[in-house]
Amino acid sequence: MNEQQLAIAYQVPTISGRYITNEKIANFLIDLKDYFKVEVVGKSVENRSIYAVQFGQGKTKILMWSQMHGNESTTTKAVVDLLHYLNESQTEKIAEWSKQFTLTIVPILNPDGAHYYTRVNANQVDLNRDSVELSQPESKLLRQLLEEIQPDFAFNLHDQRSIFGVGDTGKSAAISFLAPAFNAEREMNETRKKAVQLIVAMNEVVQEMAPGHIGRFDDAFNLNCIGDYAQAMGIPTILIEAGHWGIDYQRENTRALVCASLLRVLDVLAETNRYKEYALDAYFSLPENTKSFCDVQLKSIILPTLERKFLAKIQYKEVLTDGSVKFCPIIVDIDEKGSKFGHTLIEKDCILKSFIEEPKQILDQNFEDVVALSGEEVNYLLKK
Ligand SMILES: [Zn+2]
Repeated sequence: MNEQQLAIAYQVPTISGRYITNEKIANFLIDLKDYFKVEVVGKSVENRSIYAVQFGQGKTKILMWSQMHGNESTTTKAVVDLLHYLNESQTEKIAEWSKQFTLTIVPILNPDGAHYYTRVNANQVDLNRDSVELSQPESKLLRQLLEEIQPDFAFNLHDQRSIFGVGDTGKSAAISFLAPAFNAEREMNETRKKAVQLIVAMNEVVQEMAPGHIGRFDDAFNLNCIGDYAQAMGIPTILIEAGHWGIDYQRENTRALVCASLLRVLDVLAETNRYKEYALDAYFSLPENTKSFCDVQLKSIILPTLERKFLAKIQYKEVLTDGSVKFCPIIVDIDEKGSKFGHTLIEKDCILKSFIEEPKQILDQNFEDVVALSGEEVNYLLKK
């Protein structure tokens, strides 16, 4: 099987959806075979355990961490699938990998944020802006792991919002890669070059799975971001941003893209120096991410008091309700302004029947015929 088939075949069905917490992955971690070392390597602000899973005793050291932003769970599902494959598939290749690699995975770095489904930790701090100050226990732990392990390669795993597209292509950014800068000039050095080469290797796989849906993340330098910090430490570091693709709001297809990418990395690194074959150009020719999408475009809203029709752009707000994430539609824009593309287009006429001040949202989830706008938006329309 190739990476794509493996990523799908080894998906863990019991760990799905967007709300992924320590509790959701606990049984999976407990059930891993003896050749995995599962440890509590630290505690969060609210004393939740931060787990690390280690596989192999080889000389190539790889460190991956996911969910440092608590509401970014897709890559956690992807590393779970990767572990599942390493656990279940009794192939010679995996026996070989265990001699070549020491792979350490922190599946949920921010378990408090995961619990509350927030980007920030329990002290409302964005851990990916805390790499220099190290004001939080989770940031301190990650720095400690980087310093102790001194990985040959590091993977900083995140989700990105559904607003991102691939350049101006009209394709959503299902995956965006970044080889973070190590200085403000965004220069290349040997460290960053290695990260770029591995991205090119991963890009080959995901382009086959989701052609054209791969973007390049903004490389503005910020030492407070852990990827930039690790790169500056001399650790080749790769950022993977799992994004939106099709109508897959649970991101179960995107998780396969991430898992397949990580499988390709192990395959490439298993052969010494193979990554050096990958040309840097293929990375720089990936279109940059653009903020070009909204979730839904209602192409034709009829306001009874107006002669003309108008267009509304909707973005879903993710709300944790009764243990799962609900997608609450919010009108973010009307008429020609803002994002160009919608993941969903509603062409038919929608009749605006009522106005409400709060909440600023559409009343009918199916966009059938009732649309509500805030007073501000209605005033804007009436003035036109
Ligand atoms: Zn993030």
